[in-house]
Amino acid sequence: MRIGVPKEVKIHEYRVGLVPGSVRELVLHGHELLVETGAGAAIGFPDEAYAAAGARIAPDAASVFAEAELVVKVKEPQRDEWARLRPGQVLFTYLHLAPDPEQTKGLMESGVTAIAYETVTNAQGGLPLLAPMSEVAGRMAVQVGARCLEKEVGGAGILLSGVPGVPSGRVAIIGGGVVGSNAARIAHGMRAQVTVLDRNPRALEALDVEFNGMVDTLFATRDAVERAVLEADLVIGAVLVPGAAAPKLVTRATVARMRPGSVLVDVAIDQGGCFETSRPTTHADPTYVADGVVHYCVTNMPGAVARTSAVALNNATLPFTVDIAEKGWQRAAAENPHLAAGVNVHAGAVTHPAVAKALGLPL
Ligand code: NAD
Repeated sequence: MRIGVPKEVKIHEYRVGLVPGSVRELVLHGHELLVETGAGAAIGFPDEAYAAAGARIAPDAASVFAEAELVVKVKEPQRDEWARLRPGQVLFTYLHLAPDPEQTKGLMESGVTAIAYETVTNAQGGLPLLAPMSEVAGRMAVQVGARCLEKEVGGAGILLSGVPGVPSGRVAIIGGGVVGSNAARIAHGMRAQVTVLDRNPRALEALDVEFNGMVDTLFATRDAVERAVLEADLVIGAVLVPGAAAPKLVTRATVARMRPGSVLVDVAIDQGGCFETSRPTTHADPTYVADGVVHYCVTNMPGAVARTSAVALNNATLPFTVDIAEKGWQRAAAENPHLAAGVNVHAGAVTHPAVAKALGLPL
């Protein structure tokens, strides 16, 4: 199959659909790879690396879209990109169609078969192509939170690890799923005193076993959340209620009672955020201070570490890309219900029940 990788065009998107290692795998499977010039340059994957992996370098996006039978991307296609998609072509990327009727219409009109990373499932009931970005965001949350505790950002001037003779900082993590458990690993590794709160006893049990009791776990009642937040130097919001906006678990009144210079990192901001004082921020201007508390609420945290994120994403997507390329999407989806769950648009119609419902479209 001829597989095309355009350079991402969304602002501040430096990731790339296929990294050279993935290209090499696909070439070894006998496929033809076409990569737009500069597609990976911003994250240290120059054209030469793609050429060495066996790809042909295309001079522009137009030729990638014109020639490719399968287009592999990262972000949802932008307006110029919809116009280049055509019937019979397969698009494999993040789409997030539910809140985006305009893009949905563009994809429907193009006739493309669009497979969305975010709705591909696994046997454990998880979303394996979203999980790598949660791993990145969870680990990064501690890194940015530690930085926000420094004085010049408005923080209390606390080193999370402490030093001999000085206690380490306290980190409260609300939500112990993929983001929360990854945050716990890094915070514990930095020698902070870590508490994870969740409503799912199994999540708490898994953390208790993993850390052998060295991380505290608490059932997330309002009372427990409030106490943990007020004791913490750094609070990480990592809750998810699938298909719903994040619950506001920390009120403005509680934030106002936190110690000045404490830090809130609201990873759940992409679902509206779990602190009442949160509002979305960007990498260009990631923090603000409200009620004396530093807030970091960047909606696309993995974008800041685009190289790590691109490779992590590829590790998760590559088996599906190989499958689609080997068998064609119809047979690959027929044989794998988890890939089938990713098909969002086909032959001018939305084919994913939840997406169709969210957009008020017939199935
Ligand atoms: P997950 O499903 O793995 O974990 C969420 C956890 O929240 C679960 O363990 C669940 O039991 C818990 N939870 C739900 N309601 C709760 C409540 N009321 N109190 C306490 N815990 C509760 O999800 P995840 O992959 O860890 O993602 C967490 C959030 O991070 C999501 O909103 C996701 O979209 C977001 N995210 C943001 C970025 C970013 O760049 N900002 C990147 C990746 C993920």
